[in-house]
Amino acid sequence: MRVLYRFHGGIHPPSNKVQSTSLGIAPLPLPSRLIVPFHQHAGETAKPVVQIGEIVLKGQIIGMPDGFISSAVHAPTSGTVTAIGMHPVAHPSGMPNLCATLIPDGKEQWIQNQTIDYRTLGTDEIQQRLRMSGVVGLGGAAFPSDIKLRIGRHKVNTLILNAAECEPYITCDDMLMRERAPEIVKGADMLRFIVDAEEVLIAIEDNKPEAITAMQQAVKESGMPFEVVAIPTIYPGGGAKQLIFVLTGREVPSGKLPPDIGVQCFNVATTYSVYRALALGEPLLSRTVTVTGNVRQPRNYEALIGTPIDELVAQSEMLPDTNGYIMGGPMMGLPLPEVRVPVVKATNCVIATSAKLFPPPLPAMPCIRCTRCVEVCPAELQPQELYWFARSREFGKAQSFSLFDCIECGACSYVCPSHIPLVQFFRFAKSEIHAREKEKQAADSARERHEFHQYRIEREKREKTEKLAAKEKAAQAAKSVITESQPATDPAASDLETRREHIREIAQSHVEHSKE
Ligand code: SF4
Ligand code: SF4
Repeated sequence: MRVLYRFHGGIHPPSNKVQSTSLGIAPLPLPSRLIVPFHQHAGETAKPVVQIGEIVLKGQIIGMPDGFISSAVHAPTSGTVTAIGMHPVAHPSGMPNLCATLIPDGKEQWIQNQTIDYRTLGTDEIQQRLRMSGVVGLGGAAFPSDIKLRIGRHKVNTLILNAAECEPYITCDDMLMRERAPEIVKGADMLRFIVDAEEVLIAIEDNKPEAITAMQQAVKESGMPFEVVAIPTIYPGGGAKQLIFVLTGREVPSGKLPPDIGVQCFNVATTYSVYRALALGEPLLSRTVTVTGNVRQPRNYEALIGTPIDELVAQSEMLPDTNGYIMGGPMMGLPLPEVRVPVVKATNCVIATSAKLFPPPLPAMPCIRCTRCVEVCPAELQPQELYWFARSREFGKAQSFSLFDCIECGACSYVCPSHIPLVQFFRFAKSEIHAREKEKQAADSARERHEFHQYRIEREKREKTEKLAAKEKAAQAAKSVITESQPATDPAASDLETRREHIREIAQSHVEHSKE
């Protein structure tokens, strides 16, 4: 029996999960159009490689990875690209993003899939395969999986499959494990092979007994020495650092990553995508999405990437008093700017909201220094101090109080008796610091460019002067060579002078003879 550890803090909000687990994962009918953003992952936006009017096949690459941290984007079905341009997407900035609009032809005509035996490939080739298959973290962060597998000099002893799914309302991972456990186990074996891990732990919160049973059964049938671990249900137990601590008792130091302590974590749905990419040659074209909240029939759907949220939610019939939508869970999710935005790789859940389900927040009151936020913070921070620093824009101080260790779980806001939206202040402070760093970097590179320009002007001036001086010196040297090589007297003139002297001598002797 594995010894489990308890991380600091945490809360127990109502789980609201049962509503969406009474029915299995349903396929969605082909939507009327698909809007596929080129930036669905952490890192650089994929580069469009299709034209408007082009007919594409299901699984065809329409966006190539562009940069070290990037990932490919694919056509989720066959059809015609009718637009490439800016479209509203689910993003904290509220800004639109570059998307391809695809009108399905209904044929679902696939590209030729290339299955491979991953055991015959080197890790570089497998990573490249995952990059070109668009496999990214499906737990919410959408970090390219090929980058997470580049562990460099680190040795990963423990591979953790994160199936905690700790946030209320979300059940997509739970349902995936209930229905596709054998494929997930195969994906886990692939990841274990790539990072050469010694042990594999599949961590599931103990409020998902069906998923635990399904995974235990699949592990048993596979004969793999993997361990399914039921962990206590507490929010945010699915945070990578919190989960690693619960399972191993080891802390990932501030500013470090799990491989620094010999651990790597992958979400369970990501693991399933790895299996599909490597065993079936299928890129990431769809994902399981929970549709819940203020709808008649909450359940999970297998939704194509790019499906407009309005068409997805219509399957569950939103209720008339619906007043908005959240992408993700109620703790860390994002209110959608509008319902036409597409499902992306990070869309694990869509919650229809109503005033009854999610009453408007009460007005914030002054902090009473009760320290309840400190008690629940899983990162062991001082949220009330961070709040003061963020509010007074003392960002340097906020950083010295480990602002960037905040995982934005919202547990502090949840318990605050003064209803202070603490996590919003922390997001604001982080974005300001990032913006300032960006500005500083831009200013630094502009200064460097200017300094180099000045240096080049000076250097050219100096080189010109040196060239002129060298030319002058060479001219002088040439002149002196000519002078030195000329004889002191003209031989012809000298001869003439000798003859004149001779005549003068003869004349003199005549004069002397005549005198005698
Ligand atoms: S919980 Fe709220 S009121 Fe209490 S110390 Fe934290 S910020 Fe202040
Ligand atoms: S949001 Fe940040 S500060 Fe608040 S409890 Fe979570 S980790 Fe701590």
